[in-house]
Amino acid sequence: MGADLSYVHPTANSPWGTYLSQVDRVVPYLGDLARWAETLKRPKRALIVDVPIEMDNGTIAHFEGFRVQHNMSRGPGKGGVRFHPDVTLEEVMALSAWMTVKTAAVNLPYGGAKGGIRVDPKKLSQKELEKITRRYTSEIGIIIGPHTDIPAPDVNTNAQIMAWMMDTYSMNIGGTATGVVTGKPLHLGGSLGRVKATGRGVFVTGREAARRLGLDLRGARIAVQGFGNVGSVAAELFVEAGAKIVSVQDHTGTIVNENGLDLKALIPLSRADGLVSFKGGDVIANEAFWDVACDILIPAALEGQITAERAKKTTAKLVLEGANGPTVPVADDILAERGVLVVPDVICNAGGVTVSYFEWVQDFSSFFWDEDEINVRLDRIMMNALNNIWDTADKHKITLRTATFAVACERILMARQERGLYP
Ligand code: GLU
Repeated sequence: MGADLSYVHPTANSPWGTYLSQVDRVVPYLGDLARWAETLKRPKRALIVDVPIEMDNGTIAHFEGFRVQHNMSRGPGKGGVRFHPDVTLEEVMALSAWMTVKTAAVNLPYGGAKGGIRVDPKKLSQKELEKITRRYTSEIGIIIGPHTDIPAPDVNTNAQIMAWMMDTYSMNIGGTATGVVTGKPLHLGGSLGRVKATGRGVFVTGREAARRLGLDLRGARIAVQGFGNVGSVAAELFVEAGAKIVSVQDHTGTIVNENGLDLKALIPLSRADGLVSFKGGDVIANEAFWDVACDILIPAALEGQITAERAKKTTAKLVLEGANGPTVPVADDILAERGVLVVPDVICNAGGVTVSYFEWVQDFSSFFWDEDEINVRLDRIMMNALNNIWDTADKHKITLRTATFAVACERILMARQERGLYP
């Protein structure tokens, strides 16, 4: 594995352990640049902050906050902020590293970063949520900025939270810096198409992968894990293309309907009460989700979901990684052996950061594009990147994941080498 860092203790299937083994797999394809590969195994900078807030009941609560800048060789750090009770430094490190690979894979002029707070935001009032966001932003304010590191939404964060982050940063510098975060509300320098961009990218890459596999989307059965901004949008687009969603799982439970779930009814209900109150499907045990007969599996929740066991039993022919890091390395090998094609996270879900890039460019030029222009540009970037990765995979007879890492790591390490070591 290498990079024996004293401050993290990865295991084979933990997020950072997963990332390290993905890097190991690409090293043989890096040629002379392999000399710089250790760079990829260490974050450039990691900041741990205490986030104290006064709760509505008058008590003082402290939360752990993180911002990790994995690599900035190709441009400022870029990546979301996650609010989740299981957030750890190790997880944020892996997520920041996947951002480095992702931005390079689609050739955006960014490095990779990620942030998070170890908190269950569902247990906070709106006022407490605002306070925790503002205090966190102020604490990481010493390392973020429109030209240094640009946060964005991730799990459990949204446009309102980005507005508070933008405002807090702006108040501290005495100006209005819209370009410091992306995923903002539309009237605050946000971009059309940003909310749906990640799901749209999953659909665009998935449609192309299905075409290459000879898998007809009309009537294709799809199972979706995670029904937030990524899973639900991708599901809607696949249904428009003629597929049916046979199972959905979220944090409240799992439902199935082999004739296809009615998304128009399901989506609003899942936002209000969670999936399991839906009457148009049967509730099944969460583990049974992995046994549901399907052609396409879309993990769009958290890391480490596709384990060896689950990889052995899925009937899917195509896995579209809407989530970051959903497949552990041993499961990746099992899927490859079984002939299941995986479109990896670092290309599959890159639509979000691509439209974040458009938002950032629009903020700087103070000139905003219409939604068609955004979607056309997004589709073009995703398709070009995917085709390039596919050629690399065919050339070396490697998986799409290793091919994506090969394309991306070559760009990152080339920049590293050309910049040279300082001093
Ligand atoms: N959180 C998203 C991701 O994991 C988007 C990050 C961004 O837009 O910077 O790719």
